[in-house]
Amino acid sequence: MKGLVLDAQWKPKADYKVSDWEKQTGKAITGNSVWYNPKLEVREWPDPEVGVHDVLLEIQACGVCGSDMHFYETDDQDYILYPGLTKFPTILGHEFSGKVVEVGKEVTTLVPGDYVTVEEMIWCGRCIPCRNGYPNHCTNLEELGFTIPGAFARYLAVDEKFCWNVDAILERYGVERGLEVAAMSEPTCVSYNAMFERAEGFKPGHFVSVFGLGPIGLAALGLAEAAGAGMIVGFEISPQRRELARALGADHVYDPRDVVPHEVLLELSHGAGFDFNVEAAGVPELTVPEMEKALAINGKISQIGRAAQHVPMYLETFQVRRAQFYGAQGHSGHETFPNVIRMVASGRLDLSSIVTSRYGLEDAVEAIAKSIDRADGKIMVKPQMNGRNGNN
Ligand SMILES: [Zn+2]
Ligand SMILES: [Zn+2]
Repeated sequence: MKGLVLDAQWKPKADYKVSDWEKQTGKAITGNSVWYNPKLEVREWPDPEVGVHDVLLEIQACGVCGSDMHFYETDDQDYILYPGLTKFPTILGHEFSGKVVEVGKEVTTLVPGDYVTVEEMIWCGRCIPCRNGYPNHCTNLEELGFTIPGAFARYLAVDEKFCWNVDAILERYGVERGLEVAAMSEPTCVSYNAMFERAEGFKPGHFVSVFGLGPIGLAALGLAEAAGAGMIVGFEISPQRRELARALGADHVYDPRDVVPHEVLLELSHGAGFDFNVEAAGVPELTVPEMEKALAINGKISQIGRAAQHVPMYLETFQVRRAQFYGAQGHSGHETFPNVIRMVASGRLDLSSIVTSRYGLEDAVEAIAKSIDRADGKIMVKPQMNGRNGNN
């Protein structure tokens, strides 16, 4: 079958100490320090094998993520920008929906014809963090589209236990549009996990800021609106994304180059500060110092964006403002997928408007290249779509 394959050369940076585990597994913990000279192309890849617990999915829609963009973009030494766990070559793509077309012998919860969305994190269920209830911190983690083949492909085989039925979403949006909406479950769950599981949410009426309004930030904004924020303020460079944010319920949206964000937040809150602040820009060295200066008493910062950067933080502020900083990663466990699917199916969280471009599989490299503009909402690759995109 065809798939969008990323290959790169294992060439650890001089100052990076490769661990024994990395040597054994061929996985880099800090991708940016190891993977050199990335090459991306649509090419032949072996058909997936369907294990006894697996379902074979015909991929219907797969969103382009900031991480995909960070595989394609390189730093000044020609290393991938993505800082996290990675093993190449592999097929990219991890935000998707699919139709079950075959089931393994021991599959009990799905039948051919079912539509699902899928967790990207293939947690083992056996390591100590998994057994303690922290699948997002599994020590045997594989990640679809990061360490094992993902969904920018015609087909993918995955254990049924990572699949979530999306009938309720298709009932609201119809099959075609519903499958695109369902493909956004994964990034939305990342925002939900960071905001409501890790940072334990905010009270209705609280003031919420979101820095960075790419798909993760837009999902965070939609969730903040649905959860009853008293005011939502967004910061984003792209005018197209600022427009999408307004449509999703942002009260104010600014280009952070035109204003001093903390001054805006203090003014809008009459000096009280913002209660809940989401970092979805992936530039915490710029955004966190701004959030910090506008923290309300009991204020929270939830870090979702990924960046291989040290961040200057003035901890005195966190003491004086009784504030907290939450690191978050992942989307598995903690009722997150079921709750997000419920919110989307109810219409209370409607991200359908943020899909701004569509591409066939043959044009998947172009789809990733387009994401570099950082102007689109969500770019979708639809592997069953024939011919060219696509933009709408
Ligand atoms: Zn993603
Ligand atoms: Zn585990």
